Amino acid sequence: MGKELDGPVCLKHPNRLAVAHCSVCRRPVCQECLIEDDGFKCCSEACLKMAKESTRRSADVVERRDRANARVNVGGIVRWIIIALLLVCAWVYRNNIKQVWNKVTGKSITQMQQESYQKQKMRTNQMTNEAMDVERTQQHRLKK
Ligand SMILES: [Zn+2]
Ligand SMILES: [Zn+2]
Repeated sequence: MGKELDGPVCLKHPNRLAVAHCSVCRRPVCQECLIEDDGFKCCSEACLKMAKESTRRSADVVERRDRANARVNVGGIVRWIIIALLLVCAWVYRNNIKQVWNKVTGKSITQMQQESYQKQKMRTNQMTNEAMDVERTQQHRLKK
């Protein structure tokens, strides 16, 4: 075997000594693999991104809140559109109902009128019959 390395070695280069540990995943990295940016020492671009994102978290929260607000606004708009559609549907439905109701009530009114007319006719017939009866009995009496 070759020479023994004193201390932690790079994860990707087992024959090289690590110069630092990744500040995100704590893996040992050699000088070549080390990525230094914004004061972070990372093993990879992915870890650097994560490190930067963790410091940007507070800003992220604000951003996320803004995004959530935007979503709420969109939700509100959608809600209003739905309400408007429901109103339109209700209006159309009511108009239809009105037409149907008019048809139904119109029919029923004519039926009722016919019925009442027939009843009245029957009543007047009865009355004339009664009157005729009375007349007839009076005539009978006069004859007797
Ligand atoms: Zn890492
Ligand atoms: Zn390396």
